[in-house]
Amino acid sequence: MGAVDMNSADFEMVAGLEVHCQLATKTKLFCSCDAQSFGAQANTAVCPVCTGQPGALPVLNRAAVELGFKAALALGCRLEGSSVFARKNYFYPDLPKAYQISQYEQPFATGGGLTFGLKDGPAKRARIRRIHLEEDAGKLLHAIGSRELDHTLVDLNRCGLPLVEIVSEPDLSSGEEAHAYLVALKEVLIYAGVSSCDMEKGELRCDANVSVRRKGETALGTKVEVKNLNSFKAVKEALDHELGRQAAVLREGGRLLQESRLWDHEARRTEAMRAKEEAHDYRYFPDPDLPALVAEPGWVESLRAGLPELPAARRERYAGALGLSDYDAGVLASQRALGDYFEDAARGLAPAAVKTVVNLITTELLGRLNSEGLPVERCPVPAAAIARLAILIQNGTLSTRLAKEAFARTWESGKGPDELVAELALGQISDEGQLRDWVRSALGANPKAVEDLKAGKDRAIGRIVGAVMKLSKGKANPALVNRLIKEETKA
Ligand code: ADP
Ligand code: MG
Ligand code: ZN
Repeated sequence: MGAVDMNSADFEMVAGLEVHCQLATKTKLFCSCDAQSFGAQANTAVCPVCTGQPGALPVLNRAAVELGFKAALALGCRLEGSSVFARKNYFYPDLPKAYQISQYEQPFATGGGLTFGLKDGPAKRARIRRIHLEEDAGKLLHAIGSRELDHTLVDLNRCGLPLVEIVSEPDLSSGEEAHAYLVALKEVLIYAGVSSCDMEKGELRCDANVSVRRKGETALGTKVEVKNLNSFKAVKEALDHELGRQAAVLREGGRLLQESRLWDHEARRTEAMRAKEEAHDYRYFPDPDLPALVAEPGWVESLRAGLPELPAARRERYAGALGLSDYDAGVLASQRALGDYFEDAARGLAPAAVKTVVNLITTELLGRLNSEGLPVERCPVPAAAIARLAILIQNGTLSTRLAKEAFARTWESGKGPDELVAELALGQISDEGQLRDWVRSALGANPKAVEDLKAGKDRAIGRIVGAVMKLSKGKANPALVNRLIKEETKA
């Protein structure tokens, strides 16, 4: 980063995020147009309601409310008994009604918070200020593929898609924290079935608000809103950049403007866009076409009861009751389907075999899914096969190396581990006579190691085991080899 960053040490960052998340409904927020039309031909998922034709009236989509409520419950928010849709008035070519239906003074949820893990140090929590429902706008096209246009096209397929806006308190103090907050938020939203959060489809978008202050001060500084953040990494980089830029302005005795800035991905810096608009510029008023949204308590309770176990609780259970490392617990709990897969595989196994299951999943399985670009849901190796592999490793039938081989073959052939062990003679060699021959040759070929071993240098045994493994092409049962070496060198 630039020179400005080098003397920002006595300033600290204060940041809050506004995240827009597209709810996973079939239809739009106020009409029955297709809400899953990403990639469809422009302006084919539209109707008089979402294009603002005279006389058309909005009808609230119950499924969208349900998903919005679920998001709020998953984030520990308070659901307001009643909330109000308002018109946010402004002109832009992607907004045919010239107002966006949103919630302003009375959002449906307030309070709440999100815990997120950091690489170094303990987990942190950011409070959530509010969550409200609103409709998306359309999309302007300035280019087709790589061809710049001398005019602009409008695609209204996205107009009226259901969104929740999740607004945090200014509780984040670094780019890394903002990144971790977003990762955790995405996990929760996917777990709760609220959204698939596919960033490439624009289902999760984020504006970052950031100010700086001298360390030790408590008053908030003047904030800048950064837009055009296309990835979590961009959020992190933009915030870190802003800390340096704003600190430099203050250090030189300058004043910061409350403004919106654009993140320039190529130049890796923000650029002034416009003075930040104020709420009153939008002439908010309650939408007369829509009644208040009432959160009926029985309905809310049934939604709460229907929430799955969320990633933070899972992580805690895996690290606590199951005794996994924090790292493994974090990996397995990061996706609902992965956690489910792990639990299917681990069910009923002894703790040692559970550890083996974890290793197989985090190395073999995730490695292979990654390299093939597959989600866990499409993994061709059933959880029961992983459990069986772990048992075969535990009882000495398969070495770790052979288990890897068996895993790969199960993936490719769909055959079960036992079938493979028999068919491919993948099994470990535990025949004592054969093993003793190999042990004797290995001892004969490694007199120095034998000498060390007899002198009490126990670690020398590794060299002899290694030699036996070489002779057996990796198939010797290591536990048995160890015992035989001890027997043969004791006399
Ligand atoms: P606006 O009315 O400009 O949208 P809000 O008060 O609604 O501003 O806050 C929007 C977001 O900005 C929230 O996430 C909030 O946490 C964050 N925020 C507010 N004030 C500051 C500040 N001084 N510095 C950093 N972030 C802030
Ligand atoms: Mg705002
Ligand atoms: Zn429509």
